Amino acid sequence: MLHDTYRHKGMRKKLVAQLVEKGIEDQRVLEAINSIPRHLFMDNAFVNFAYKDQAFPIGADQTISQPYTVAYQSQLLALKGNEKVLEIGTGSGYQASVLLEMGVKVFSIERHRSLHLRAKKQLEGLGYKPKLFFGDGYKGLPTFAPFDRVIITAAAPYIPEDLKQQLKVGGMMVIPLGEGQSQQMQRLVKVSETEFKKEVYGDFSFVPMLEDKSYRS
Ligand code: SAH
Repeated sequence: MLHDTYRHKGMRKKLVAQLVEKGIEDQRVLEAINSIPRHLFMDNAFVNFAYKDQAFPIGADQTISQPYTVAYQSQLLALKGNEKVLEIGTGSGYQASVLLEMGVKVFSIERHRSLHLRAKKQLEGLGYKPKLFFGDGYKGLPTFAPFDRVIITAAAPYIPEDLKQQLKVGGMMVIPLGEGQSQQMQRLVKVSETEFKKEVYGDFSFVPMLEDKSYRS
């Protein structure tokens, strides 16, 4: 059984200080990271690495994103606190927990059943109430659309059309675009039903957003 301890809290404070040094300014994002026990989202074997600013394996060949990446994407979402956010790639559930801690409504899709189930247990165990779905992120969640924000946490080879449609006018999508080793972070602002304004940010490295018909278990 893992607990949150003073030692973990101390390590988290240092991590937050590093994120500030690296340019994260959104206080709500920093406060969320400061209060969430990231070590509880990781395999036992990696618990001592939980507060290093690094990505780590979470099983099923996937990773929990680097804290800086989580902070960066969360900051780009420019949240006030009551938005409806669609996340693609639940993974460990850590990114979702940061958004939940910031007070928004989170809908998140994962294509690996094992990860989906574990994240659900994990987030509910911490007292959050996310809406988690096992399915294909390329399709989004038409039943729950429209969303104020969409955040994609896997490398997208292109901007999925369904996700563009499920965004509100005035809403934003944060998406790491591109195949291969690194992706370009982009923020798309939906300015009308048919037009998007594109903003380009730095390069990041994500596992691929996979497209196939059969889900994994
Ligand atoms: N946000 C996660 C990091 C996820 S890594 C966290 O905080 O831990 C990317 C995740 O996207 C992986 O779990 C992968 O299985 C998932 N993924 C990849 N392609 C997907 C798709 N088409 N639909 C839904 N999830 C997908």
